[in-house]
Amino acid sequence: YFRALEQKGIRLNEPQIEAVRYGEGPLLTLAGAGCGKTTVLAARTGYLISLRRVHPSSILLITFTNKAAAEMKERISKLPGITASQARSVQARTFHSFSLALLRHYGVKDDVFGEQRAQHTVLNILQRQMGMREPFAPETLLSALTSWKISGRQLEDMPASTADEINFKSVLMKYEAWKANNHKMDFDDILLRARQLLNDPEVLVPLQNKFQYVMVDEFQDTNEVQYEIIRLITEKHGNLMVVGDDDQTIYSFNGARHESILNFDKVYPDAAVITLGINYRSDSRILGLGSEIVCHNVERREKRLLSAGDQGSAPQFGRPADAEEEAEWVVSHLTEQVQQGKLTYRDIAILHRTASSSRAVFEQLIMQGIPCIQYGASPVFYDHSLVRPIIDHLRLSIDPRNFGALQSALGPLYVSKEAGMAYILAEEKKQAKKYPLIHLTGWPQLRSFQQDQVKERIKLIKKLKTMKPVYAVQEVRRAFYDKYIEAENQGVPTQYKEGVLETLDELETAARRFDTVQQFVEFADELSTRHKQMESLQKLEQANAVHLMTIHRAKGLEFPCVYLIGASEGILPHSSALAEEAQEDRKASKPSAKDGELLQAALEEERRLAYVAVTRAKSSLFITSPAYHHGKNAAVSRFLLEAFGVKNAPKEAVAASKR
Ligand code: ATP
Ligand code: MG
Repeated sequence: YFRALEQKGIRLNEPQIEAVRYGEGPLLTLAGAGCGKTTVLAARTGYLISLRRVHPSSILLITFTNKAAAEMKERISKLPGITASQARSVQARTFHSFSLALLRHYGVKDDVFGEQRAQHTVLNILQRQMGMREPFAPETLLSALTSWKISGRQLEDMPASTADEINFKSVLMKYEAWKANNHKMDFDDILLRARQLLNDPEVLVPLQNKFQYVMVDEFQDTNEVQYEIIRLITEKHGNLMVVGDDDQTIYSFNGARHESILNFDKVYPDAAVITLGINYRSDSRILGLGSEIVCHNVERREKRLLSAGDQGSAPQFGRPADAEEEAEWVVSHLTEQVQQGKLTYRDIAILHRTASSSRAVFEQLIMQGIPCIQYGASPVFYDHSLVRPIIDHLRLSIDPRNFGALQSALGPLYVSKEAGMAYILAEEKKQAKKYPLIHLTGWPQLRSFQQDQVKERIKLIKKLKTMKPVYAVQEVRRAFYDKYIEAENQGVPTQYKEGVLETLDELETAARRFDTVQQFVEFADELSTRHKQMESLQKLEQANAVHLMTIHRAKGLEFPCVYLIGASEGILPHSSALAEEAQEDRKASKPSAKDGELLQAALEEERRLAYVAVTRAKSSLFITSPAYHHGKNAAVSRFLLEAFGVKNAPKEAVAASKR
């Protein structure tokens, strides 16, 4: 088998072969990035099928994304002695798709309610029906709900004592009830309900008999519910193989528990542990930087990674003034590489820490007509659910009769946009107005405080037109968002509040470049048109396009050339891991142990993100650290300074850190 593999160009090393041939019982394969863990999973599947005569459909292979599942099947189909139909029969799935298939098999017909926009709409409507004057941001509500439920807790048990907390909880209760009444389930519900089903031996036992071998990729990012699902299914035979890297746990906010992988051999005392130590992916200097970054974490298993070669170049570092300069540099640099024939677009990935931090690079790529695929919910920043209504208010200030903008601008009023718009249009027919929004004051569905809001809104729109765009943005933002963000209580996890604030700060940054509202709005429109022209690319799997994605999405992937942007304090590490630190400093009294622990954990997760980002690169890596971010000076990321050691740090980095 292994000779046949070699003929296909896959020459596994000793410990990899040991893992592939491993017989019955639990097995943990622990290894750093790029050491061939995913490769081993595919090879072991092929080995089980062709040598051990295991039926392909008795193998359950859990991957982290649907894309990874498809790639896994593709890889398996190319292994020696495997037919296409055998490869197809392997159950390569994500936890979600596995759970959903299970629910469907047992007759659960509820719709999957996964679309963010739809979830937001429902939450907004519910809050309106409850007559909430200062509704909570849907993002905040949903994130709090996930972190509560996924750890196996009942919503009823969520503590609530202040008025805000009580409101917060009752919105969530209403939302849960709404889903139940409308036969909808979100992603968390799917997992939890599948887990629930397994309590029934009539469900569990057939599954235990069916899946003789269970293997899990990226095990370091499984949460408690997911872990329980596979624990139960493999309870009888114990044929559970997990592969992962404790240094790559980056989904704690989804309930991933870093300890699962560190404790695997305690939960399964008879587990074999095989470590892989040779990285085949990255140039030794790139790998070296990754190792130097992550070794500063305390909560980890020590590993030594050897590199298979020097096929590329040493990582390079740059210190642009801000995100605009950074974007210009990255785009012109990558264009040059492509023009010189060194790379094609698809070899390149641009990685960023948060969704909004790719805004400037994305604009540069689109405006220069460079094919790119932005992975994420709303690729165009100005279409983001928080940003769109603000831009639409600016559009209305230029043209109050822009009915498209008018409808979406109704959003923050928390009235039904469709019904409100229908009313406005009907009234327009009777009597056209310069500001059609005014009709809404006569709408019987509005409460009196909402009528006042409409009048204020018109005043606001009139005012915006002549303002500097950045002030206009601030004005709208103050009117709609800041109030409810501030109104939220301490019980809400700050990181989600941060996400909202960060998006709005990014919008201010974007607006600052323009002199008039008109210019800004025209730019946003132009961007959106050009993006639409490029959108068909998104659908092509093998499109020759630059990949633009968050570090979270890049996990498990590899690219010949990686640009890691935003390697500055406040971006990576993200401010949510530092805000608490600042708070503690301010208090100056001794921080409670728990605060310190939480902060430490958040910072270590940020460091793992930096490690994941760096280790995606095969041959070349460019890291940029903007000196200015959201109105503040930003130092070079501590992760880089730690890794380089102050002596060897790039000159720009040292100079910047002293500033
Ligand atoms: P990550 O932690 O990022 O998920 P991984 O441990 O899953 O990484 P793989 O993606 O399996 O690593 O492998 C990384 C690269 O090394 C791939 O390009 C793979 O083809 C190659 N590779 C794996 N094993 C070998 C080997 N024995 N010889 C040569 N190349 C290998
Ligand atoms: Mg992998």
